Amino acid sequence: ETEALYCIGCGSLIQSDNPDGLGYVPTSALKKQVETKELYCKRCFRLRHYNEVSDVSLTDDDFLKILTQIGDADALIVNVIDIFDFSGSIIPGIQRYVGKNPILMVGNKEDLLPKSLKRTKLKDWIRQSANIVGLRPVDVALVSAGKNHGIATLLSLIEKYREGRDVYVVGVTNVGKSTLINQIIKQQTGISELITTSRFPGTTLDKIEIPLDDEHLLIDTPGIIHQHQMAHFLSGKELNIASPQKEIKPRVYQLNAGQTLFLGGLARFDYISGEKDGIVVYTDNNLMLHRTKLENADTLYAKHVGELLQPPSEETLKKIPELVRFEFKTAQKSDLVFSGLGWITIPTGAVVAGWAPKGVSVTIRRAMI
Ligand code: GDP
Repeated sequence: ETEALYCIGCGSLIQSDNPDGLGYVPTSALKKQVETKELYCKRCFRLRHYNEVSDVSLTDDDFLKILTQIGDADALIVNVIDIFDFSGSIIPGIQRYVGKNPILMVGNKEDLLPKSLKRTKLKDWIRQSANIVGLRPVDVALVSAGKNHGIATLLSLIEKYREGRDVYVVGVTNVGKSTLINQIIKQQTGISELITTSRFPGTTLDKIEIPLDDEHLLIDTPGIIHQHQMAHFLSGKELNIASPQKEIKPRVYQLNAGQTLFLGGLARFDYISGEKDGIVVYTDNNLMLHRTKLENADTLYAKHVGELLQPPSEETLKKIPELVRFEFKTAQKSDLVFSGLGWITIPTGAVVAGWAPKGVSVTIRRAMI
């Protein structure tokens, strides 16, 4: 006979199936915890013992409740995004909820950019992309939470824009929000214990609150799953190959019109017309690139995706939506951006097509380099 068990930290129903979900306790730890009557989910356990924040995914419903509460608050909103996955980083519907609250956008994973890329150009692009989806950030900051770059600057921007108010940190999963929160906790000296008592009303989750001054708090919110992130289609190992892990080393290909470049089996670039030119690819250094004739590309893909063209593996392939084609004509040197994967720099006056799994965006921007 099984009895429903609840975490004594956050009240979530205990489960051992989904490590990223609410109330997770590994089966190996469950028995001992029940015996000692110290039943904490993984997230609360880490928080209690290591002062370490780990992210959990929420149902859309719970997340909407939290967004509503943030909209009703008088606060600065810090929206963390992955600079390699802008469209996959946008919280669906966030524009409706922010209300009059200012948004500070934080582009994370800056350490992956080649040194030659001008950071101000990227910030401008983030701002423009935000405007297109109806967000008007008061400022854009670039950080590397993982490498601890730009955190002090970010903290001073937060101090500047919060104007004595609370701060809510929001983001979809995988953008590195937990890594960032943990860096902030490290840098804010004098925090011996995180405050985790008060819940977001109407949801299961406690808030993680970091004191900023005597009265105000920086509040971490749970990450929401964005359905159209490349990350959600892939296994952990494949994700390490598909999404950039180390500073990107540009790869140059001399392409003729009528040639195609496959990015593993996850995306495809067709050089339809244009001068023979050096096409520069900015993706994970280990992502396999495969060149072929455009006229053979469909057949090659149909025959070899999942084997020659990996990732995805044949197993993962079953979960990935079909590739969708987007065509562009360039009026200047441009980057074709595959959200979550990277980008390809193409010359002016070219006609190209970018293909990515349905839901994953392919966009064009002025070349960053
Ligand atoms: P969350 O789901 O938003 O809380 O994201 P995590 O903090 O768990 O990070 C997601 C992934 O991104 C992990 O594999 C991290 O190692 C990685 N990551 C986080 N911050 C950075 C960063 O600044 N640079 C790089 N290269 N990777 C990062």
